[in-house]
Amino acid sequence: MRVLIAEDDPVLADALMRSLRQSDFAVDCAHDGEQADHVLTAQNYDLVILDLGLPKLDGFEVLKRLRRRGAMVPVLVLTARDALTDRVKGLDLGADDYLTKPFDLPELEARMRALIRRGYSGGGSLLMHGPLTLDTGGRRATLDGAPLELSARELGVLEILMLRSGRVVNKEQLAEKLYGWDEEVGSNAIEVCVHRLRRKLEPAGVAIRTIRGLGYLLEKDA
Ligand code: CA
Repeated sequence: MRVLIAEDDPVLADALMRSLRQSDFAVDCAHDGEQADHVLTAQNYDLVILDLGLPKLDGFEVLKRLRRRGAMVPVLVLTARDALTDRVKGLDLGADDYLTKPFDLPELEARMRALIRRGYSGGGSLLMHGPLTLDTGGRRATLDGAPLELSARELGVLEILMLRSGRVVNKEQLAEKLYGWDEEVGSNAIEVCVHRLRRKLEPAGVAIRTIRGLGYLLEKDA
């Protein structure tokens, strides 16, 4: 799950970023509206947290341009206390939800999860691979009909491998989906994640092959 935070208050941006990363979100941060607009044209996100009062280009304009490009990504708007007209205007421009500052991080995360679920239910799908099923909308996987306990990153890796099953996926492609751009990706972080996933899938005969020097391949034992 990759999230963009557009917030010019460095203290708030930093707190948000750290908290969301702890919950296994891949997080990027834009510190002004121009940067946010630029990043949003270049990179796909699963969710955008958008402060309305941004320098250079305000949040309304960022949102307007985003929707004008046809982007469906869920947007959660952050507004100042009691700014009712801002909330209405934001929703009119295509925001999906709003939160009034100051807010509690657990509430933000609960709303983010709800938005991500909703965002996916439109374009979500059921991926199947042998005994393995992944509901990209509900973010749930089952193996032989039994729920599979996966971390957010394991689920992310599995989704990419299933979407491209039979083809080799390299580590860079996995890292791009799972980590923010300034996030330190340990050299073996992806390997560790794949290793854990592999152990959970092996009992059902679902194999993730390592293709030396190239990446990973999802294939099912005959
Ligand atoms: Ca601001």
